[in-house]
Amino acid sequence: MSRVYNFSAGPSMLPEAVLQKAAAEMMDYEGSGQSVMEMSHRSKVYDAIIKGAESLLREVMAIPENYKVLFLQGGASSQFAAVPMNLMTKNHKADYVLSGQFSTKAYQEASRYGDVKAVASSKEDTFSHIPEIDKNECRPDADYFHICMNNTIYGTLWHTLPNTGDVPLVADISSCILSQPIDVSKFGLLYAGAQKNVAPAGLTIVIVREDLIGETLPGTPTMFMYDVMAKNDSMYNTPPCWSIYMCKLVLEWIQNNIGGLAKMEEHNVKKAQLLYDFLDSSKLFKPCARKDSRSIMNVTFVTGDADMDAKFVKEAAAAGFVNLKGHRSVGGMRASIYNAMPVEGIEKLVAFMRDFEKANG
Ligand SMILES: *Cc1c(COP(=O)(O)O)cnc(C)c1O
Repeated sequence: MSRVYNFSAGPSMLPEAVLQKAAAEMMDYEGSGQSVMEMSHRSKVYDAIIKGAESLLREVMAIPENYKVLFLQGGASSQFAAVPMNLMTKNHKADYVLSGQFSTKAYQEASRYGDVKAVASSKEDTFSHIPEIDKNECRPDADYFHICMNNTIYGTLWHTLPNTGDVPLVADISSCILSQPIDVSKFGLLYAGAQKNVAPAGLTIVIVREDLIGETLPGTPTMFMYDVMAKNDSMYNTPPCWSIYMCKLVLEWIQNNIGGLAKMEEHNVKKAQLLYDFLDSSKLFKPCARKDSRSIMNVTFVTGDADMDAKFVKEAAAAGFVNLKGHRSVGGMRASIYNAMPVEGIEKLVAFMRDFEKANG
């Protein structure tokens, strides 16, 4: 068996130890005589899995007690609608920062449900940095303030959170969840699709402060109502059982093999630094994101020549470094280096890039 270094933006690499555990438990989960894929979600054995996943997530992310954890479906994109339907219920206003494609989609979707304002944008700079915020643009009576914490396509990260005062801060953390410790108490709501850093696709995690849920906009589908999902422990209907089980295994890996999120961050910073240091010193490759906004999960770069970019992506794939092509909307290259990418993968990639530069510089 040979495995590639997979730099896919999502779905993406899962830790090898997790895949092995899942494989070992595939035919007979803990003596139940069944695969987790085949179990009733109402069974005792599955109940322990979903409860275990939630309590581990609470522990690993240090989620305060006054927050609900919801295991939903529909991806982060469904939350673009669910967030306004559940939170834009007082003044029917919300402020959004446009820092990339996903935050723009979130803004456009929310605009269907109320008075939504784009208070800052870095679009003119092709989203190469987190936009500066003019306080005067922000509305103190907004029901919430929305950001996308890590911009997967452009490779930028909010290193300092905006101060929104009493307005609840809402963040899409799809591509940075579990990558570093985060102070949940600073947020009203966090949401993430699982397929970047948590589990296979199918699971969407919502972490929401209790006092923010209860009311919804008229016409909100029951499946989108946070309070219904919370009251039913994410089991109003069949949850994404397998993905939740994988999420539990990934959390166990972070806790037992890595040593928690502070250690996870150390690994991730080290990996990103290796790559950025090389890019900063390279004569062929140029990093795209502004230094103060650099993501530690998605590293974007170009050569400045589309043919050379294509040659690089092709030769890299042949050498076992796959999915380095940038997002179809921006071109260039992107190395997504989520939790499961080992340091060794980056070291080998940098060595390959160095050789490529020598041959093509
Ligand atoms: C991948 C991604 C999304 C889209 O997620 P889906 O689960 O496919 O809907 C949204 N936001 C961010 C930041 C992402 O990285």
